[in-house]
Order: sequence, then structure tokens, then C-alpha cells
Amino acid sequence: MVAASLPVAPAETAPPRLTDSHGRVIHDLRVSVTDRCNYKCVYCRTGEVGAQYPELNIGEYLRLIRLFVDLGITKVRLTGGEPLLRHGLLDLLRELASLRTLWGEPLDLALTTNGHLLDSLARPLKDAGLQRVTVSMDAVDATIFERITRIPGSFETVLGGIRAARAAGLTPLKINCVLLRGFNDDQVEGFARFARAEDVAVRFIEFMPLEEGRLWSPEIVVPLREIVQRIRKIMPLVELPPPEASETARRYGFPDGRGEIGIIAPVTQAFCGACSRVRLTSDGKIRTCLFSQMEHDLYGRMRAGASDAELRDFIHRTVQGKEARHHIGEPGFLKPSRSMVHIGG
Ligand code: SF4
Repeated sequence: MVAASLPVAPAETAPPRLTDSHGRVIHDLRVSVTDRCNYKCVYCRTGEVGAQYPELNIGEYLRLIRLFVDLGITKVRLTGGEPLLRHGLLDLLRELASLRTLWGEPLDLALTTNGHLLDSLARPLKDAGLQRVTVSMDAVDATIFERITRIPGSFETVLGGIRAARAAGLTPLKINCVLLRGFNDDQVEGFARFARAEDVAVRFIEFMPLEEGRLWSPEIVVPLREIVQRIRKIMPLVELPPPEASETARRYGFPDGRGEIGIIAPVTQAFCGACSRVRLTSDGKIRTCLFSQMEHDLYGRMRAGASDAELRDFIHRTVQGKEARHHIGEPGFLKPSRSMVHIGG
């Protein structure tokens, strides 16, 4: 299965693509640069547990990311914890912006943030080479937002960050909202209006069992079908084609083209068949799937003196073993060995 939008090199010079044993081409790397976070979102963190994993230095992340780019990665998303807490992030971005893919193109550089530090950092991030940003925002009602983040005053701060990101040109600007029945499922219609008012892409995410505590149950998930039905009751939605096969969101537009709705439905409409992602944790371990029970210590091998060629080979062999899919809700399903805040989106 090959995603349509990937660059194609002439046959005689085509470098080997990073593929798994299911024939999926892996071109999207997500790198967690810290598992520290300045928010305590109720569906993610218990609030008692802080950071648990060491961070590499910026030069070490750069060397590891370069190895993945040598193997065909074209998209790099920086995540956390909260990546804007990471000292040296702008230096890392400048270095990544100077890299070229195997096809001589700039990397597609994106970042996911809770937006708390975005107001002051939007312009420097853009100048350092970041192209686009996704902001996690789980309510358009300030009281509900701050009940979820458990950070007083955070709503206006994040809203300011979103507007600063758009003003800096970090677009397309996406807003990720994790929906939980009984917490913020009353925000669906408000977010649809927000998407139009702010002209942003609001993406609703079905709640996945990746939290620190034991909150997840099938009943707490708000399924894609219900979200679409509810928005269609207040405004027309037009389904949009995915930009590429590995796009995780089902996208919907509005007749006048202002604003967009996306729904990421890993629980009710899984998209593992076209998955193009692997992850690098803040302490340098490869996770081939968000729900992996195994981790592969790339950084440990680098520290032990492995050459770039040996490390690339290790990445190749590790990705070959990538899981076919997740097994959420199935008998015997095991939560992953790390919770989301310690993996990164
Ligand atoms: S659950 Fe795993 S295989 Fe499925 S889309 Fe997510 S990372 Fe890919």
C-alpha cells in the first residue's frame, strides 16, 4: 500500500523505502522531545506522576532523526509531554529545516502543543523553520476547558496562542479535541462554530485507552457517527477527500469553505491499514505503534558506539516488525507500556 502523495525517484536511483512487513511505507516520524508537561489534563494525567523518562540532548535527537530521514522519512512531528518546554527546541528546528529528504525536498515540519507558551513562541518557531502547528484544546467553554486542564486562566492563554500561531503563518492550523462522554461531549456544536469563526480545522479525537489512570471504557467514547450527526443538525457538512492515504482524520468542510472539521476515529473506524507512522520517545526508544507493548532502544545502541550504518539497519529491522493494528476493545487487549504523555501524540 503506497500513499499517493509521496515523491517518486527515477527507478535506477530510487532509495530503499522504510516499509513494514505489511507493505506499508513509513514516512512520518513523531519525536517526543520531553515527557514533561505544564498541564494536568484529566483524561491524560492523574496529576500525581511527573516526568518519568530522561531527555536526549538536541544533538542526539538530530543525529537519530537524520538516520530516519536517510531511510525515507519526509514528515517530522515534534511532540511531548509539552515540546515548548524543551530548551534548545528552536536550535533543533533550525537544524531540521536545513535537512533535505531523499528526494531533495525540505522536511514537512510540524509540532503538537497545548498552546500555553505559543503566544510568545509562535514567531520564533516560524522563523526557525516550523511550518505548521496543532494545538490541543478540549473545550470552547473556559470553565470546562480549565476543569479539564486543571490550570486556572489557561483558556484565554491558549486562545491567544492560537491567534498568534495563525498570525505567524503556522498554517494549516489544526485544533485537536479529545472527546469524552460526560466531560466535554457538550462542546461539539460550539467547536463547529469555533472552526468557522476562527477559520481553523477542528479535529475531534475518539478517546483512546492511553491515559495514566483507569478512565477509559467504550461507553466514554463519542463515536465519529454521532459527532457528524450532531453537527449536521446545526449546519451542513461536506465530506472532503483525504490529502493522502495515511491521513488519520475523516475531513468535512462547509459549503463556503470557511473552517473545517476532522474526526480521528481510532476506536470505531480504525485506520491502521494505511499507517505510515513510527515514534521516537524522549529517551530515544522506537515505538512502532502507539499501542506497542515493546520498545526498541535506538539511543542505547548509539551510546554503545554503533555506526550510522548499524543504526540505520536497526531501524530498518525494527520497522519491519511494526504491528499490523491496535486491538482496542478486543478480548485480551493490553494498554500500552507507556501512557500518552510519555509517548507523545
Ligand atoms: S494504532 Fe498503531 S498501527 Fe494503528 S494507526 Fe495508530 S500507530 Fe498506526
